[in-house]
Amino acid sequence: MKNCLFCKIIAGEVPSAKLYEDDLVYAFLDLFPINYGHVLVIPKEHHTSAATIPEATAGRMFLVAARVGAAMRHALDADGFNFHLSDGTTAGQVVMHAHLHVIPRWSDDNFHWNWRQLKYDPMSKQAEYCEKLKARFKLERDAAELALNEEECDPEYKSPLGKEENHGG
Ligand SMILES: [Zn+2]
Repeated sequence: MKNCLFCKIIAGEVPSAKLYEDDLVYAFLDLFPINYGHVLVIPKEHHTSAATIPEATAGRMFLVAARVGAAMRHALDADGFNFHLSDGTTAGQVVMHAHLHVIPRWSDDNFHWNWRQLKYDPMSKQAEYCEKLKARFKLERDAAELALNEEECDPEYKSPLGKEENHGG
């Protein structure tokens, strides 16, 4: 996409410290790291939201990010790593091309997530939230892939994916 910083990085129009690239994803070092060695894993196709990334690409992103995390443990002697993804301006997304952060962690890195723990009060509130989410939750896979899966199965087979009547548990 024109004027997208990450699309320019993928195209080589803007330089980056590239760690890895394949047909679907691109991984490079964040210019403003939380910790040194902080990596971004991005889809090569432009997607603003993680929600529109096709399954194969999303799966590859997670796999590459996990392998990058393993490399952080071995090469940087990291004690662990965090994944982080901000979707939407309110959530803290700055570059509008979806990106998965992989952040190496050390016990003495002096970084802390500002993580709070609310309580559902009353507890029935949790079920209400669950029902609201279920009503709109959809798992739509690539259409061709879905057709293939259905073909392999019984002709009476109905995919549980993306069928309204299966919502609500
Ligand atoms: Zn882009």
